[in-house]
Amino acid sequence: MQILSFSCIIVFIMSHVGETFFTSVGCMDGRVQEPILRFGQKKFGVKYADTITEAGLVGILGKKSVDECLFESIKKKLLVSIEKHHSKVVVVHGHQECAGNPVDDKQHLKDTLKTAEIIKSLIPEGVKVISAFVKRSENGWTVEEI
Ligand SMILES: [Zn+2]
Repeated sequence: MQILSFSCIIVFIMSHVGETFFTSVGCMDGRVQEPILRFGQKKFGVKYADTITEAGLVGILGKKSVDECLFESIKKKLLVSIEKHHSKVVVVHGHQECAGNPVDDKQHLKDTLKTAEIIKSLIPEGVKVISAFVKRSENGWTVEEI
């Protein structure tokens, strides 16, 4: 019985050691989630993405008037990811063929960069913010840092 408890504790501790996070902020579109996860895992050497989404998120936050409840909700999720999961980097992303923010790529890139600036103002200093754009390519959906 004692041995069994001991091994449970070991497993518990080990699973926590590998649980590292970055924060993904972008569209709810299912096509972009996996490429963004792979991008973050490769670039930052972390395992999981805490995922904050809305339909066409960068098109919403880039607007002059933003719903206050939505804004507070996004901020709250960012802080949970940073404070509770110790995320050190936020990836703000837009993507091609977005149903929630149906603008051309040029405007979508602008919206993404503007949203990244807004996100920076919401989180503690020392947490990095990176902007990215997800594009359809021959190999499926790929992530480009912008
Ligand atoms: Zn979208």
